[in-house]
Amino acid sequence: MAEELCCWVCCDGPDRAELLPMGCACRGSAGLAHVACLVLAAEHNVNSWTSCPTCKQEYTGRVDVLLAEARWELVRHRPEEDAERLFVANNLAVTRKESAGDNAGALQLMEEVLSVRRRTLGDEHPHTLDSIANLALQHAEMGHYDAALPLSEEALGAMRRTLGDEHEHTLVSMAALGALHLHMGQFRAAWPLCVESLDARRRMLGNCHLETINSIHLLGRCFVGLGDWGAGLALLEEAQSTATRVLGEGHPSTQHFASTLAKEKSRGDGAEGAASATNSPESHPLQPSP
Ligand SMILES: [Zn+2]
Ligand SMILES: [Zn+2]
Repeated sequence: MAEELCCWVCCDGPDRAELLPMGCACRGSAGLAHVACLVLAAEHNVNSWTSCPTCKQEYTGRVDVLLAEARWELVRHRPEEDAERLFVANNLAVTRKESAGDNAGALQLMEEVLSVRRRTLGDEHPHTLDSIANLALQHAEMGHYDAALPLSEEALGAMRRTLGDEHEHTLVSMAALGALHLHMGQFRAAWPLCVESLDARRRMLGNCHLETINSIHLLGRCFVGLGDWGAGLALLEEAQSTATRVLGEGHPSTQHFASTLAKEKSRGDGAEGAASATNSPESHPLQPSP
């Protein structure tokens, strides 16, 4: 006979409110709860806002979203610069985007957090720069390239000044701006950023690090965009073969690199062919002019 389902917090069944699966590792009634009961539990244990006190795994799906929204309701009326309010707003932005697919809702919170940080911390504080970079990425993911571009440029410029050209965060920002130009079809603007970030990552992280492989792939696409199929395909091949060796064939990045390579190869065969395929980008520098 089936066990009667109930909420693990209050032990009542579904009559009180909808019983939701928590999306953690708990099974049966241990993995079911009323959202209101989870909110009460979380008010006593701050970790319970995001993860199950029994199995310690993070909540996923609707429970994750409803808890993040409930937590926001508790702090949203505090002064804008309240540290916990900002923290909760940031978490909710990520949850809206990743668990609910609500890009517009995430964007609105990110904009709010950024404006508070600019006002209270200044434009070049590391937290402000984080916010600027995240907002730029969010705009880019939503296809708002014109909104993303000035933010991405601002983040990179400020990181160069405050952290230096070769700081890990600066390099992430540089690659992000390069990728943004690439998406916009602005290959000449993307090129120097892709070259600089790849060069720094090869030196600092080695040729097999995932960040380096991403940069190799990005510069490869940039060369292809500029019409240099030989240099482009050589890099796309390097990205694909290194990823296969380091990450394995089944890894999503490897599959992405392999599909780009296959696509560009078939396009390249129809264009210039592989006449300069043996030229490395170093021995065949392409100097784009504005
Ligand atoms: Zn309950
Ligand atoms: Zn659990």
